[in-house]
Amino acid sequence: MKKCDLCSKLDGIHYRVRSINYKDWIFCCKKCWLIVSKENEYSYGGTRKSKVQKHN
Ligand SMILES: [Zn+2]
Repeated sequence: MKKCDLCSKLDGIHYRVRSINYKDWIFCCKKCWLIVSKENEYSYGGTRKSKVQKHN
């Protein structure tokens, strides 16, 4: 699992995005993506999936 670049939340899926506030590509969780996607100059660059650790 990787960290969200914005809120540092660990998650299995992150969204690669840019906006007027983030000139370089960042990876963010779904919650942050919903915020960034409403900003000016938003662009989407795909998703990053990492292995989810299973707890028995
Ligand atoms: Zn986040």
